[in-house]
Amino acid sequence: MINETLHVGMRIGNDERDSSDGFRFQSINPSDGTVVATLPESTESDVDLAVSTARAALDGEWSRTGPADRQRMLLNLADLIRANRDELARLDSLEMGMPITRSRNSVDSAAAHLEWYAAMTRTISGRTIENNRPTERFSYTLREPVGVVGAITPWNVPLTMMAWKLGPVIATGSVLVHKPAEYSSLSSLRVSELCLEAGIPAGVVNVITGGRVAGAALAEHLDVDKVAFTGSVKTGQAIIRASAGNIKRLTLELGGKSPNVVFADANLEAAALAAVQSIFGNSGQICTAGSRLLVERSIQDEFVERIREITSSLVVGDPLNQSTDMGPVASQSQLERVLSYIHTGGEQGATLISGGEQLTDGDLREGCFVTPTIFGNVSNEMAIAQEEIFGPVLSVTPFDTIDEAVQSANSTQYGLSGYVWTEKLRTAHEMTQRLKLGTVHVNSSNIDPAVPIGGRKMSGYGKELGSEQLEEYLETKTVWIAQ
Ligand code: ADP
Repeated sequence: MINETLHVGMRIGNDERDSSDGFRFQSINPSDGTVVATLPESTESDVDLAVSTARAALDGEWSRTGPADRQRMLLNLADLIRANRDELARLDSLEMGMPITRSRNSVDSAAAHLEWYAAMTRTISGRTIENNRPTERFSYTLREPVGVVGAITPWNVPLTMMAWKLGPVIATGSVLVHKPAEYSSLSSLRVSELCLEAGIPAGVVNVITGGRVAGAALAEHLDVDKVAFTGSVKTGQAIIRASAGNIKRLTLELGGKSPNVVFADANLEAAALAAVQSIFGNSGQICTAGSRLLVERSIQDEFVERIREITSSLVVGDPLNQSTDMGPVASQSQLERVLSYIHTGGEQGATLISGGEQLTDGDLREGCFVTPTIFGNVSNEMAIAQEEIFGPVLSVTPFDTIDEAVQSANSTQYGLSGYVWTEKLRTAHEMTQRLKLGTVHVNSSNIDPAVPIGGRKMSGYGKELGSEQLEEYLETKTVWIAQ
């Protein structure tokens, strides 16, 4: 059990360890500025130790573990995660401010993901392939684990991000060195303990703590076979460069600036509620947040009034309170970033419709609370329409024709996901075909462990979830046998 007010160690093999030079950093509660925990700042030599521990596990008993055993371990782990729901949810809420009801849902969704991967464990198989010398040569493929996986994750949905890497690692018989974001490591550390309880051998799942130094050392490490990264474009580019030393396999999910396109014929009540949830859920700190509302001009005023009204009823406050809809943003630096984008939005000529300020009243004054913010009159060139703010800031841009809607929707460097609201089948089909995005949701917003997600353009490459993700954690070996 992690006591969140104490010193916490990182997980390498069976051990909870300090860093080699003894340096620690603090994890701060963004709701009130208090210290949640102090954690080891991993050095390059700590990363070396974690990687060699993982490699030894990969080459040891783990390589002889069959799919039925790995399936059982994943199911055990999912059960343990559910059994510890309250503790895990509280750790994420304390460290990064996610409302507790949402944190609990994210624990359940992490468990559901591991259960899906438990099933996928039984599906791994190669092929026998007929070649052109059928009486002399036999050819087939073997599927092998990708090996030592370095996972580098962000702070926005900490436990979910860990589970998304952990599932395919265990299913394929790979091993993991995970570096969670420095603002939110506690739930991953707790899960690494639960992995041991679930029967996963020591060394298969290692969690190192720290920031850029540890992440960069993992991305560069010559004995890491693959890096699975979720985070910013800038760090993704650094990871691509760092991976060149040993030609690592990479999967990169680098954020988005997702368009939410509302046509005049849509069910406006459902679309308005979804628009608000999409951008203000988790304080806008979701890669797939619908941060750009593109709305048909003829209904713009009515629709904006609807979302303004729903937004004004959101309860912003203590994430541990059951009735809170929106907590703080995750850190002081995130607060400054969001406020600076709000300032730029005004400067570049957008019209502030609601919010736009830090909350400094009463209990909230020590925290990183921002009011849910809506800007109107946003044109596609503005910074708030182009750059990922990762905060509770919605920009509204009108369109007149379907061509204009497509052009606006595709006008950023990102291509992660988008939403279309229309009652016309023809419009829905045309939009899904013309949007340059990894995922398009029509009249809904969805996530399911069986259905892949991933980006295009500068949102990255490689899929997570679904059988597509399993492929990213497997190598194919071709075998020829002369008979
Ligand atoms: P964000 O802006 O969302 O914090 P980052 O891309 O900075 O996104 O961080 C995501 C993850 O990448 C975090 O775990 C962070 O510590 C790690 N990280 C930051 N810089 C580097 C780097 N140069 N190489 C590898 N990982 C890094």
